[in-house]
Amino acid sequence: MVAVADLTVLLLGGTGEARRLAALLVRDRPRWRVVTSLAGRVADPALPEGEVRIGGFGGPAGLVDWLRRERVDAVLDVTHPFAATMSASAVSACAETGVPLLVVRRPGWTAQPGDAWRRVPSLAAAAETVAGMGERVFLTTGRQSLAAFADLDRHWFLVRSVDHPEPPLPRRLTVVLDRGPFTVDGELALLRRYGIDVLVTKDSGGTMTAAKLDAARRLGLPVVMVDRPSAPPSDQVTRIEDALPWLAAHPSSSI
Ligand code: NAP
Repeated sequence: MVAVADLTVLLLGGTGEARRLAALLVRDRPRWRVVTSLAGRVADPALPEGEVRIGGFGGPAGLVDWLRRERVDAVLDVTHPFAATMSASAVSACAETGVPLLVVRRPGWTAQPGDAWRRVPSLAAAAETVAGMGERVFLTTGRQSLAAFADLDRHWFLVRSVDHPEPPLPRRLTVVLDRGPFTVDGELALLRRYGIDVLVTKDSGGTMTAAKLDAARRLGLPVVMVDRPSAPPSDQVTRIEDALPWLAAHPSSSI
């Protein structure tokens, strides 16, 4: 006899929080079916507990089909705060199917005394801002954001990413392949070794990659901080633990 899950939950993942939440649900609710979806961008992804599916759904319409076919009871959007297309797709597909949606999103970073941050609304604005700053730039905005900086010939870039970036790329570039979490000592050593003048980052929030901000503050380096896209219009919590009461309160959760 095939066991029937009490509840099928789709986690839109690609973050450390999504992995931790999948583990929490798998351990705490063994009768639930927990499926994490990954975009498939990273060659060797860290896999969560529970079921995993990889690759895009084919836009909101593809996600609608998937939710219906798999009889999904709830969607948890635990994507990165900058994965705005996926989040918008989830809002649209959940509205069409009536499947409840919760966004689990870590808070953004807040400047502390001693920080010299310049907040900008987009990657394009970050590139414009960097054009008027020091020559040696540590770019931690992700390998898919490098095109915005490709025309800055006067600057030299240190890029850190999980996989090797693809063109278009800035002309003067050194790539370091690495993935977090990072330590303040490690970041201080990196900034000093490469003689960095300015750090560029997205406002990802969380602790995994925050050490670079501490290191920049200690060295008195300016930071260009790209603001997040606006949050999707749906229920939202900041801590993964808060997803459990939200799921329990949901009408289709019978346990
Ligand atoms: P995006 O621009 O919002 O999404 C582009 C397309 O990729 C989506 O329309 C969707 O394709 C597919 N996709 C994205 N996330 C998916 C998921 N979890 N499962 C299945 N398909 C997904 O996303 P992105 O910024 O490229 O990020 C891709 C993934 O990397 C996300 O899962 C995100 O959590 C993770 N990530 C992103 C960043 C970042 O800075 N953006 C940083 C760390 C991790 P379809 O339209 O075909 O469904």
